[in-house]
Amino acid sequence: MQPPGDRQDPNEGFLQGFKHFATHAIHTGQEPEQWNSMAVVPPISLSTTFKQHGPGEYTGYEYSRSGNPTRNCLEKSVAALDGAKYSLAYSSGLAATLNIAHLLKSGDKILCTSDVYGGTNRYFRRIASEMGLEVTFVDCSDLKCLEAAITPETKLLWIETPTNPMLTVIDIQGCADIVSKHKDIIFAVDNTFMSAYFQRPLALGADICMYSATKYMNGHTDVVMGLVSVKCDKLYERLKFLQNALGAIPSPFDCYLVNRGLKTLHLRMKQHFQSGLSVAQFLETHPCVERVIFPGLPSHPQYELTKRQCAGVSGMITFYIKGNIEHAKIFLRSLKVFVLAESLGGYESLAEHPAIMTHASVPEKDRAALKISDSLIRLSVGLEDIEDIIEDLDQAFKAAHPELNNHK
Ligand SMILES: *Cc1c(COP(=O)(O)O)cnc(C)c1O
Repeated sequence: MQPPGDRQDPNEGFLQGFKHFATHAIHTGQEPEQWNSMAVVPPISLSTTFKQHGPGEYTGYEYSRSGNPTRNCLEKSVAALDGAKYSLAYSSGLAATLNIAHLLKSGDKILCTSDVYGGTNRYFRRIASEMGLEVTFVDCSDLKCLEAAITPETKLLWIETPTNPMLTVIDIQGCADIVSKHKDIIFAVDNTFMSAYFQRPLALGADICMYSATKYMNGHTDVVMGLVSVKCDKLYERLKFLQNALGAIPSPFDCYLVNRGLKTLHLRMKQHFQSGLSVAQFLETHPCVERVIFPGLPSHPQYELTKRQCAGVSGMITFYIKGNIEHAKIFLRSLKVFVLAESLGGYESLAEHPAIMTHASVPEKDRAALKISDSLIRLSVGLEDIEDIIEDLDQAFKAAHPELNNHK
C-alpha cells in the first residue's frame, strides 16, 4: 500500500519500457572502430564525395546524397530505437511523407485518418491529389469506419496516434489486423508525438514508422528533419532508392545534432511524461478550463488503449479554455515561461492556438468537425521546473478570467 501523500507512479499500468533502449541510443551506430581516428563521438563528415579505388570501386560511400558517414550513424541508431532493421533520414518530416507517398503510383488511393498534422493534410489534399493520388480522410479511431473505407485501389493507410491536435489514440494493432486482410496496403504511422521511447508501431504491425524528428526525437528545437524506419528489405530498397533519387536529405551537421539529441531521449521523455501529467491534473481541476485532453489521464476516452499500446505519453496536452477567442488570446499573450510558438517536443514549453496557427491550413468546416474551436489551446510541456510551469499557467488564467479568480 502507498503511504498517504506519496506520488503515484505515472507509469502504472502502462506497457513496459523497451529493453536496452538507452544503451542502444548511446552506443548503436556510434562504434569508434568505424573511424581510423577511433573517435568516440561521430565526426561531422562534410565531404560531398569519396575517393574510389578504381572506376566504380568504392568502399561504402560514393556521393553524399546517396550515403554519408554521419547520416549513417544516425540512421543505425534510429533503427535500433524503433526495433527496426533500417532507418532513413530526410530534410524534414514532410520530405519523409513525400518520399513515402512516392511509393504509390497514379490512381492509387491513400486512406488517411481525419485529424492529422496540418502540413500532412495540406500535402495529401492539395498536392498528392493533384498528382493522381486519391486521398480519403476517415476517423481511424473507429476501426469499422476504417475497414469500410478500404477499396481495391487503397495502397497506403496513414495514421497519426495520438492525433494532432485532438490527441485521439488510434489502435495500431487493430489497424494492422484490418490492413493485413488486404494485399498491397502499406501501413504507415506518424510516431512524432510519442517518440520511439513510448511507442513502437513496427512491433504492433505497422510497415512504416515515420517521425518529424524536428520534435521529440531531436528535442532541442534546432533541427528540421524527418525519419522513417522499416523492417522489410523490399520496402527499404525502394525507399533508399527514393531517398537518393528525390534528394531530400538532411545535412551532416543536422545528422550530428539529432544523433546527439537521441542520447538523452529516454531521460527527456520520462520528464515530459511526468510534467505533462502534473500539468494535465492541474488543468483538470482549474475553474478556467472547460475540458482537458491528455492520453495519460484516466478521463481520456482511450486511456486503457493508451496503456496497452504505449510505454508512457509525451508532454502534449490540449484543452478548451472557458470563454471565447478573446479569453484564449489573453491567456496566450500572458504566458511568460511558455513561449507562444508553433512546433512541439523541445526542452522548452510551448503554447499555441491550433485554429489560428498550426491548423490554419485545414479547411474551416473540417476544423469544426474535428472540434478545433477558437477556445482550443495546445501545450507542449517542456523540461523547466514544474512549479514554474504551473505558476505560469495559473497567472495567465488569472489574466484571462479575473472574475473566476477573485477568491485569490
Ligand atoms: C511537425 C510535424 C510533421 C512535419 O514535420 P516537419 O519536420 O515540420 O516537416 C509531421 N507530423 C507531425 C505529427 C508533426 O508534428
